[in-house]
Amino acid sequence: HSTDGKVYDVMVAGGGPAGSSVAAFAAMQGHRVLLLEKEEFPRYQIGESLLPSTVHGICGLLGVTEELESAGFVRKRGGTFRWGSNTEPWSFDFALSEKFAGPTSYAYQVERAKFDQLLLDNARRKGVEVRERCAVRDVLEDDGRVRGVRYTDPDGAERTAHARFVVDATGNQSRLQRYVGGQRRYSDFFQNIALFGYFEGGRRLPSPNSGNITCVAFPSGWFWYIPLSDTLTSVGAVVRKECADQVRGDRAEALSALIADCPLIADYLSGARRVTSGRYGEVRVRKDWSYLHDTFWQPGMALVGDSVGFIDPLFSSGVHMATYSALLAARSLNTALRGDLGERECFAEYEARYRKEYQAFHDFLVNFYDVNRDEQEYFEVARHVTRDTAAGAGAFVGLVGGGASDEAVLTSESYRDKRKKDLLEQSRGVHQEGHRIQLQAAFGEAVDDTPLSADGLVISQDGMHWEKSVTSSAL
Ligand code: FAD
Repeated sequence: HSTDGKVYDVMVAGGGPAGSSVAAFAAMQGHRVLLLEKEEFPRYQIGESLLPSTVHGICGLLGVTEELESAGFVRKRGGTFRWGSNTEPWSFDFALSEKFAGPTSYAYQVERAKFDQLLLDNARRKGVEVRERCAVRDVLEDDGRVRGVRYTDPDGAERTAHARFVVDATGNQSRLQRYVGGQRRYSDFFQNIALFGYFEGGRRLPSPNSGNITCVAFPSGWFWYIPLSDTLTSVGAVVRKECADQVRGDRAEALSALIADCPLIADYLSGARRVTSGRYGEVRVRKDWSYLHDTFWQPGMALVGDSVGFIDPLFSSGVHMATYSALLAARSLNTALRGDLGERECFAEYEARYRKEYQAFHDFLVNFYDVNRDEQEYFEVARHVTRDTAAGAGAFVGLVGGGASDEAVLTSESYRDKRKKDLLEQSRGVHQEGHRIQLQAAFGEAVDDTPLSADGLVISQDGMHWEKSVTSSAL
């Protein structure tokens, strides 16, 4: 075994959106970070429809806003649904939530090979030592603590790397997640199978909705229709387990048969042809994706992104959950590495906040799969699961845009300003806390945040650590 000799602060396995984000957020705090990725980028991945919380929130923190802007990705203003008891398609704009309203009320539809490459290159620029074609095999454990990993390098040689913390960001197929204890719990409710391919020449919705994701319910499940360029479209059927027969046999034929069963999608694709060569030439199948791990961490190791959990492609929450978990976990790593708080307290905070966001999407999605309701009823469910009182589609869009956590940094600038003003207003007369909020506002770096529970932590002023809440420590 060859060992690299040094001890990294953080070692990240996997270079998808979760891995490259957590690695960059740790490196930006001056920590020594190693990232090992099994493939050579660019590589294919599914998960192309993004949310504003990722595009403007996380990507803004990562410093890739301009790069994303000039990458030529399709702008997604919202979603169009043929869903529920309404027989007509209905649309929503991200601008309908005050959390996203303003000049940044959009996301992107991305070719993941390009998007993931952009994030991984950014991690490199931020000081992360990135090594591709390095497959992590297992973790090194000693005395109840993970202390590094064993991996195979591009020449096939077995190596080890040591680190104070190991982060598993190897996604859905993770072999490392089992080391944190507990297990993956698969959902009894979401047991769908996806069959998907790519088409040239599919129709576009009229402006300004031409970049929207379209989701269309049909007897066996639903279709996604994602415009990736003026001419390229990602088309996938998400089929209920009981209809699994329709996904067997020749995949291209199965996909054609499903499309024929869904008049709206058949119409959109009437003048299109399926791509049959290159990265998009294959019809692919994915299943067993709805799960959540019992535990998120153990001493010296944490799980982020799909390695921890995923719910369902409907509402495109995957990359949002992956990158948001990366931010939450990075705060825990940065705080524990600086020695401000113990790792138990730090990772408990990560887990509590992730679970809250996961639960909101999960509970909403369970209700949304009941296709006997109309939009107004879905909006009501969103108000209920998020406890957001916004009228009309407001709470629904706040949730499906990735803003349920109410983390200021994931929302638009105008919403942040408004919240700051509200807080200052409230703080008049509230002595202790008011002092802190006013100070934050004076420095202009304010990240207003309230703890999730009485002993919960709050976000530090730099946004990249946790700290004790002034109110809870004063009690
Ligand atoms: P990944 O993107 O899977 O990245 C993991 C990385 O780890 C990969 O690069 C892999 O090569 C690497 N790796 C694996 N094993 C090892 C190893 N042993 N050593 C080193 N590296 C390793 N999300 C959306 O946001 N929008 C959507 O529209 C959407 N649609 C979806 C449709 C379907 C059918 C499915 C199943 C998912 C969809 N998702 C969507 C979810 C999305 O694909 C994931 O949530 C997202 O890719 C998770 O990012 P990640 O970084 O955790 O993992």
